[in-house]
Amino acid sequence: MKIEPKKFRVSENEKVRLKQWPTRVKPFYKTDGQYKKVLAEHIKELSRQQGMLYANNRYALLLIFQAMDAAGKDGAIKHVMSGINPQGCQVFSFKHPGAEELAHDFLWRTARCLPERGRIGIFNRSYYEEVLVVRVHPEFLDAEGLPAECLNDKKLWEHRYRSITEYERHLHRNGTRIVKFFLHLSREEQRRRFLARINDLEKNWKFSQTDLTERNLWKEYQAAYEECLAGTSTDYAPWYIVPADDKENARLIISQIVLDTLKDLKMSYPEVSEDRRKELLAIRKELK
Ligand code: ATP
Ligand code: MG
Repeated sequence: MKIEPKKFRVSENEKVRLKQWPTRVKPFYKTDGQYKKVLAEHIKELSRQQGMLYANNRYALLLIFQAMDAAGKDGAIKHVMSGINPQGCQVFSFKHPGAEELAHDFLWRTARCLPERGRIGIFNRSYYEEVLVVRVHPEFLDAEGLPAECLNDKKLWEHRYRSITEYERHLHRNGTRIVKFFLHLSREEQRRRFLARINDLEKNWKFSQTDLTERNLWKEYQAAYEECLAGTSTDYAPWYIVPADDKENARLIISQIVLDTLKDLKMSYPEVSEDRRKELLAIRKELK
């Protein structure tokens, strides 16, 4: 069954009601073996595309992952990027900002981590936290040291969306392709995964008290996500709402979307000129 990325894509200016977006869809695999086979095919092709991205050295690809806790961001990143040459790919995780980061505008800390041309950059959480966790926890906004007119700005969140979309447009214009994934998890599945993390000793480290406090703010987070997805999904940097209750299926969907994005760049290995080819053939003779 073909995975159609369009089905998961938020159109520009589309209103988002998360309850209407599935957290589970009919799986794109029938057996575990088939899942592995399809993922391996995606990865093989991804690796080929990444080789061309690197060789062409013109475009960069930025993948952004956002989700509630235990939605499977880390696993998706690990599995989907597993076949990729580590030289061409970098992952950055963004946690609570430190003092130096708070002393700058909210895009600063991530700007330093953007992928170079020819590379794939992955943000595990991102500047989107600034309209999600910061919106749900106004005390984080207070800690950002903003001038009063910013804090009193009634359109503060809207203005942050605009800062983000303008920034992404700028990046797009200069050769960075951006794809954003929201891993859409149901509250019930999160409960199950938290319990699994508690029951399994080896997974205990993954669970923290704050996971529970954030879970209790589920509604607030869903509302912040809805507005954020609607306010920042654009043709040049679209959001995809990926059903995440089935981790394997989510990985297949994500890898397909990344693959399609790279294929859209219609890359090939750089061609060499007649003269250069002649030179190479002469060198070959010498080597022999
Ligand atoms: P895991 O899935 O392993 O729990 P994680 O991404 O949740 O990974 P944590 O260390 O648990 O990592 O959490 C990082 C925390 O930092 C999150 O709660 C996130 O909301 C928070 N955070 C990230 N960016 C900001 C920001 N700009 N302002 C305030 N909090 C932030
Ligand atoms: Mg966490």
